Amino acid sequence: MAIRDKFPDTLYISVQDMVRIVQRKGLSACIAGVARNIEADFLRWESFDKSARLACHSSEGVIELMPIADARQFAFKYVNGHPKNTRAGLPTVMAFGVLADVATGAPRLLSELTLTTAIRTAAMSALAAKRLARPDSRVMALIGNGAQSEFQALAFRDLVGIRELRLFDTDPAATAKLVANLAGSGLRLRACASTAEAVRGADIVTTVTADKSNATILTPEMMAPGMHVNAVGGDCPGKTELHRGVLERASVFVEFEPQTRVEGEIQQLPADFPVTEFWRVLAGTHPGRRNREEVTVFDSVGFALEDYAALRFVRDAARELGIGEVMELVPRAEDPKNLFSVIVAQEEELAV
Ligand code: NAD
Repeated sequence: MAIRDKFPDTLYISVQDMVRIVQRKGLSACIAGVARNIEADFLRWESFDKSARLACHSSEGVIELMPIADARQFAFKYVNGHPKNTRAGLPTVMAFGVLADVATGAPRLLSELTLTTAIRTAAMSALAAKRLARPDSRVMALIGNGAQSEFQALAFRDLVGIRELRLFDTDPAATAKLVANLAGSGLRLRACASTAEAVRGADIVTTVTADKSNATILTPEMMAPGMHVNAVGGDCPGKTELHRGVLERASVFVEFEPQTRVEGEIQQLPADFPVTEFWRVLAGTHPGRRNREEVTVFDSVGFALEDYAALRFVRDAARELGIGEVMELVPRAEDPKNLFSVIVAQEEELAV
């Protein structure tokens, strides 16, 4: 057997490859596909070896590693969060990730995950809102109009039925960018002068701001009975978006409780404040929203299982469309105990 056939390939998906996948499939189909994978994987919750992510904090931001595995596949994501980056022309969030075979440890996919994170976060938010928001929700306030916002808007249009968006950002240029990007989306758009104005009359409120502080974007007096809050931007110790009074009056749903207790909005509350892991709603062991008056909060921080689901989507789409490049990420020695031979062979090649 040729040496190449013994080694499983590692597929590399660059940003350009991911753009090609989105262009060929359509963004709506990608969001829906990732949402289907997340739902399927959340329904296998007990099959996964789960842990809270590992975070390295600095004064400007955080760099995190997010691992997860089932019996067959291991995944991890590298992701940062640096709210001041945009001032220097860099994104707040940048990411890449790997899928590997558990049986051998061989890496099978190395992929960009910055675009993919925006897709998977929007898919997760919309999946949660589909179960937790009132079914007739049509108006959403979108607070924070940066990199994630278009993806959130389109996921809520497609999966939840949102028809009107009320927009607010402390940076008017971000709102103008969002309005321009959503032209032709069929969504009615209204730029607002404050969060309070945007939230008034909304069925759903999405907060997706970036600021390394305990902000109070949403306060209790802005809340109306029956609202659903999709709180995306508070995802680190010392980085929250909701006044604690909003949480105290709501039914709060989280991804993976041990991680959210440290990183989510509920870091402001005692450790015994009751929350429900969202997978229980999908599995039917928790009813989700109980009535039309209840205020629900999805305290999103981003969990490794969502990236596992997204990486599966990227791999399958790339295979189907013939996109991506096979790369030699691991040296291929004829005798695996003779790693040294790879260097010698390379030297011989160079000498020719
Ligand atoms: P971004 O920097 O591109 O956009 C953030 C926007 O928030 C900016 O336009 C900024 O002007 C605005 N903003 C800051 N403070 C505000 C305030 N008080 N009121 C209104 N607007 C305000 O960042 P992004 O990539 O869009 O990410 C947004 C947030 O979402 C970040 O905090 C990021 O860490 C978080 N995030 C969470 C998840 C998750 O799974 N929960 C995934 C991705 C990103």
